[in-house]
Amino acid sequence: MVQLLKDEDRIFKNLYGTQDWGLDGARQRGAWEGTGAMLEQGRDWIIDQVKASGLRGRGGAGFPTGLKWSFMPKEVGERPHYLVVNADESEPGTCKDREMMRHDPHLLIEGCLIASFAMQAHAAYIYLRGEYTFERQRLQAAVEQAYAAGLIGKNACGSGWDFDVYVHHGAGAYICGEETALLESLEGKKGQPRLKPPFPANSGLYGCPTTVNNVESIAVVPTILRKGAEWFSSFGRDNNKGTKVFSISGHVNKPCNVEEALSIPLKTLIETHAGGVRGGWDNLKAIIPGGSSVPLLPKEICDTVLMDFDALREHQSGLGTAAVIVMDNSTDIVKAIARLSYFYKHESCGQCTPCREGTGWMWRVMERMVRGEAEIGEIDMLLDVTKQVEGHTICALGDAAAWPIQGLIRHFRHEIEDRINLYRSSRPVFVQAAE
Ligand code: NAD
Ligand code: SF4
Repeated sequence: MVQLLKDEDRIFKNLYGTQDWGLDGARQRGAWEGTGAMLEQGRDWIIDQVKASGLRGRGGAGFPTGLKWSFMPKEVGERPHYLVVNADESEPGTCKDREMMRHDPHLLIEGCLIASFAMQAHAAYIYLRGEYTFERQRLQAAVEQAYAAGLIGKNACGSGWDFDVYVHHGAGAYICGEETALLESLEGKKGQPRLKPPFPANSGLYGCPTTVNNVESIAVVPTILRKGAEWFSSFGRDNNKGTKVFSISGHVNKPCNVEEALSIPLKTLIETHAGGVRGGWDNLKAIIPGGSSVPLLPKEICDTVLMDFDALREHQSGLGTAAVIVMDNSTDIVKAIARLSYFYKHESCGQCTPCREGTGWMWRVMERMVRGEAEIGEIDMLLDVTKQVEGHTICALGDAAAWPIQGLIRHFRHEIEDRINLYRSSRPVFVQAAE
């Protein structure tokens, strides 16, 4: 029997915008309660609590948040420290941070103060996706409320710590969600990823120690500290702790964002919260479980898989941003993945050759495969190209372009073959004879 998350254990109590988003509403839901006292417990206590909670980054990569914070220098030298919040949410299928910023912006701002204090940063930058105009206005209004109430600014929450928040609007490039491209963009330059290492903790914004965290990773921190690391880590299973906001879209009866415990079975997640698959579970063809960058899974795996980092990795996929894209039997799966290939080709910054050339090459071959105008042997050639791109690029966009194709070939090779065979057999007899 699966234990579903109870309402009282949901961190984002206003995820659907049914209550007041402003400071009064946020306070009624518990935000900004005892924040000063948390800061009084000291930096080490905060970082230890976040480590003990088991929180892993909610932007896609799942890097342990407390560990990342502990990479920041212990002493502040001549270079100031910064917190940068990655709100450039652009992964296809992902729309969770948007709802948090619209409806519960104070949780994010409070989280910024706590995280920045723990890492000795006097400033946090929130870098918003270019299309998030309404969210920028909402967030900016909430920041102003927090300043007016003395929660941030000079002597934030009476802690003696001066702290500023800057909301920065991106210009609408997917690649600026990659943390180092985001930093370049924030510095006013063209948004192209930097080689890592050095990681931002050593050399980030303006060459200074910087931590870049996703919106959700920061917004959950105040509640973790208020309710305790043990409370948060009581959800999920080892190495996959806490609650998580899932975005469920595609062929379901009720697309939604929902906060659930990590490690919930995928089938339960969809049937309980998204009204089930259109036409029933048996009409399911495949699911992309974590945003477009992770490989799809066929129905047989979706029947039993758990929604967490480790379970999905065991099936050569990933939790990614926890954006669940459901495809029923009416889906042209080859065409769907070809469309993703176009997306990555379009969004490649063009800086490194395997990605710049490889994404275009993969997309063109995928387009031919959609029409069946390919040789059977080209399927393995395409797979080989994805392996040449994967792991050979400056940033993860190259991997992200390769993985959906690998998933398609792994689980739906027969559909590509059928198309090629159909195309060949439908050609005039004299053409076939000439071949
Ligand atoms: P990554 O694994 O390189 O890094 C994850 C984080 O850990 C980074 O902040 C990095 O600086 C830090 N880190 C990793 N190793 C470190 C080390 N040895 N020392 C110090 N810090 C270290 O992954 P990434 O390229 O940042 O992110 C890729 C993920 O982004 C993908 O899994 C994808 O799901 C996700 N993604 C999300 C969106 C979105 O809209 N949220 C969009 C595109 C991709
Ligand atoms: Fe740019 Fe692609 Fe290289 Fe990333 S992998 S730096 S997006 S060319």
